[in-house]
Amino acid sequence: MQTDLLIGGSWRSGTDGERFDVINPANGDVIIDVAAGTAADATAAVQAASEAQPLWAATAPRVRAEVLRNCWQTLVEHQDELADLIVTEHGKPRSDAIGEIAYAAEFFRWNAEEAVRIHGSLSMAPGGDKRIIVHHPPVGVVVMVTPWNFPAAMITRKLAPALAAGNAVVIKPPRETPLTALRVAELCEQAGVPAGVINVVPTMTSSAWFDAAVDHKATRMVSFTGSTAVGRVLLRRCADRVLKTVMELGGNAPFIVFADADIDAAVDGAMTAKMRHSAETCTAANRFYAEAKVADEFTEKLAQAMGAIRVGSGFDESVTCGPMINAGAVDAMHELVTAAVGGGAVTRLGGNPVAGPGFFYEPTVLANVNHQSPIAAAEVFGPIAPVIPFTDTDLMIDQANDTEMGLAAYVYTEDLRRGLQVSERLHSGMVGLNRGAMSDPAAPFGGMKQSGLGREGASEGIYEFCETQYIAANW
Ligand code: NAD
Repeated sequence: MQTDLLIGGSWRSGTDGERFDVINPANGDVIIDVAAGTAADATAAVQAASEAQPLWAATAPRVRAEVLRNCWQTLVEHQDELADLIVTEHGKPRSDAIGEIAYAAEFFRWNAEEAVRIHGSLSMAPGGDKRIIVHHPPVGVVVMVTPWNFPAAMITRKLAPALAAGNAVVIKPPRETPLTALRVAELCEQAGVPAGVINVVPTMTSSAWFDAAVDHKATRMVSFTGSTAVGRVLLRRCADRVLKTVMELGGNAPFIVFADADIDAAVDGAMTAKMRHSAETCTAANRFYAEAKVADEFTEKLAQAMGAIRVGSGFDESVTCGPMINAGAVDAMHELVTAAVGGGAVTRLGGNPVAGPGFFYEPTVLANVNHQSPIAAAEVFGPIAPVIPFTDTDLMIDQANDTEMGLAAYVYTEDLRRGLQVSERLHSGMVGLNRGAMSDPAAPFGGMKQSGLGREGASEGIYEFCETQYIAANW
């Protein structure tokens, strides 16, 4: 297994020789250690990317597309191995890890198809004095910083369109899950991506690493996925060099159940929206607004479904929720649950950390939660479902929108007209209407408000990694 830095097509240790441990969150054990990149390594990686990028950009789109399709095929062929790696360093159930690899690989197939469809335009200026030619060259070198909750997919969702458009990249994977990132990059090189086009530099010193990467004059763009708090810091730093940015940030999704909904379908959807990938997705249902007439029935059925969840190692086939990423995550959740109960919420299920080894929390359902409770305001990255009953739809929509986040939302109703009307009133980049999941490489993923800037996936995703050049022409 490669555990060094990938810079310019070769594997090397960091300039100061430091390494850091990768921890298995299911038992707290050290899996292996990985080279820790320094600021100098970040600089070297940007330099390597800048040297490789012109040739890659000059490669015919059809050839780039074929390389990307090979990446898709190679990842699919290594699905089992990659899923094992994800379960080991992230902890999610193996079936979710298998699903993540399929999703991650799909970004290569989708963008292989997009690589040959980066269209510009030609038009006569209204004054008739010139032609207006618009085309979309690649940005150049893109720095990517990614989170631990999808160790493969949060990389490929950026990497595939960036490569399709002709860019070279430097990736800083999260400290928690660098192994999947290194293996994905190695497989992409095997699939035909030229040396230096993908560079991966894990680090223990993110801030110094990022400063060095951003200060290199070849860096033209930063694509970040992670928390809103860190996104703000990186945005400020990018302002120093006026870099193009894409920011995929935190969520706080409302999940709305109207009285006319198919309650069993709503519970199924709620389980998907809340619990997949160990309840650690940015689109996770965070607050459940159930119309008062059905709030008890919905809460009861949700508690039954949550009660059937088995917590444990993702390698155990009967397990449906793995560990949280670290001990701090478990403590943060317990604080929110304690505050909600202190504010009058009723615990219908769970409500406590699970004794170690490993970092586990009981699947938890809280009834009669108050919209003012901190658990409704915070992003809950864990298996906790707070249910807030409502009677007034307008007030409920105000409450659903009463957050600086605006990534995902869910609506369950049998009345399609109402479903669409409510969806349009939600300040959210994505809405699941009678569905508990919405991610798709062919759809634009991203948030409104402080959930982000820009979109990943769909046709929009590839243009984020392009410049726009206009040529005023006479002939
Ligand atoms: P995080 O913001 O703590 O870390 C994300 C990345 O930023 C990691 O690689 C981390 O090492 C790095 N980082 C942290 N501080 C940095 C600094 N000062 N300079 C440079 N890099 C720095 O987020 P996380 O805990 O890894 O992931 C969870 C968060 O990510 C949640 O808020 C979740 O909603 C969000 N997320 C969003 C999306 C989306 O598409 N909108 C997808 C997945 C996760």
